Amino acid sequence: MGTNSLKGHDFINDEEILNLLESSKNPEKAEIREIFAKSKAKTRLEPEETAKLLQIEDPDLLEEMFALARQIKEEIYGNRIVFFAPLYIGNKCQNNCLYCGFRRDNQAVERKTLTMDELQEEVNALISNGHKRLILVYGEHPEYDADFMAETIKNVYDAKLNNGEIRRVNINAAPMDIEGYKKLHEVGIGTFQIFQETYHHDTYYKIHPKGDLKRDYQWRLYGLDRAIEAGIDDVGIGALFGLYDWKFEVMGLLYHTIHLENTFGGIGPHTISFPRMEPAINTPFISNSKYRVSDEDFKKVIAIIRLSVPYTGMILTAREKPEVRKELIPLGISQIDAGSRIGIGGYKEAETGYIPEREQFQLGDIRSLDEVIREVCELGCIPSFCTACYRAGRTGDHFMSFAKPGFVHNYCMVNAVLTFKEYLLDYASKETKSIGEKAIYKQLDVFKKQNPEKLRMVEEKMKLIEEGARDAYV
Ligand code: SAM
Ligand code: SF4
Repeated sequence: MGTNSLKGHDFINDEEILNLLESSKNPEKAEIREIFAKSKAKTRLEPEETAKLLQIEDPDLLEEMFALARQIKEEIYGNRIVFFAPLYIGNKCQNNCLYCGFRRDNQAVERKTLTMDELQEEVNALISNGHKRLILVYGEHPEYDADFMAETIKNVYDAKLNNGEIRRVNINAAPMDIEGYKKLHEVGIGTFQIFQETYHHDTYYKIHPKGDLKRDYQWRLYGLDRAIEAGIDDVGIGALFGLYDWKFEVMGLLYHTIHLENTFGGIGPHTISFPRMEPAINTPFISNSKYRVSDEDFKKVIAIIRLSVPYTGMILTAREKPEVRKELIPLGISQIDAGSRIGIGGYKEAETGYIPEREQFQLGDIRSLDEVIREVCELGCIPSFCTACYRAGRTGDHFMSFAKPGFVHNYCMVNAVLTFKEYLLDYASKETKSIGEKAIYKQLDVFKKQNPEKLRMVEEKMKLIEEGARDAYV
């Protein structure tokens, strides 16, 4: 839908959301339990229902909600966690978003764009850590047009190092026109991600100054519609938590999901992200914001999103501190990044991991991929580097029809084990290898109970991997 035809209207009705939140205060236990039952049946919730979950205060109901979120996560996604890393390509930006370290007027930031040679070096460093999936991130700048992005994607896919390669490239960048998206589709982009930042119109205009391209709320809001129209199957939505009331933003994410489902034959977003605003160099707006979200409320954000849209992937980034991640992952998270460096050139260059003068904000978790993998195993999960669905054409509507528990157990869990086995052989430290092998062994036992035939098939493929084969998937 073209923005001009909207005449100021779009699918986010601020007043309707505020009214719904107001009328949902003090919900009855019985009605909350009915909503829980609907989530348990893996049905997407309606705004009136999510609004009620957002108003739960009763500690027992909250505990029930967290337990249910864990259960839904486990049933739909199994106990696997998919790993990726962000790769910042360039931090030049023509916008002045008040909350962002890359904003145009921020003199404290050293501007840099990776050359194609530097990009190769960064990708090699990521491959040699064991990564298989990247998200490329760009400021909004004329230099970073669709052709430039397409070139960077191609270069990432072309990089090969020993047994390693990047098998899926996603993008987080400013919204484009359809022609631009088509160029990215042609070079094999995975997911295109756009965060609306805040769904609250007035707040959006307050933090995106007049004259900036980014100030066009609706160009951004419908940015993923255009991506889908251009042929990109997987799109990711998100809100930057801390700009406005967190309850409003969760409602905004739900309305966005429903809009995509209604517009594209039942297919919603592939992933939802909920970054919390983090401190950034020379950016006082952040510490002055009265909407920063506490850890306690953030836990509710994640559980309520899990219950509201059971089949959508959820991403928790390394913005969060290790202890927060450990607690929140089991509540519904399907993807995390690890070993992340967000200063431009940070993977190859920085010994410490920090290049504050080239970073958009400060990361909360700068542990190595190996360390995080080890912790995830200790939490009872299987790390996954799987990229099979996208490469086997199981995206968008195909993916949604497959994304059922049986599918997850027959494909995703198997591919998690196979890609994790590769990781252990090629990149893991001795300690992680030993913990990881035990985690795989435990999972093989689960396969055996499900179907001895499946166990045999997985063991055969694992043997091939041990003998040197790579990229074996089902
Ligand atoms: N420049 C493009 C844009 O704005 O659409 C690409 C994305 S920007 C580099 C990546 C995302 O980082 C933004 O969409 C925003 O949600 C998030 N971000 C910006 N400032 C942040 C901060 N201080 N803390 C955490 N996340 C932040
Ligand atoms: Fe630029 Fe994006 Fe940062 Fe805004 S959020 S200043 S558009 S990089």
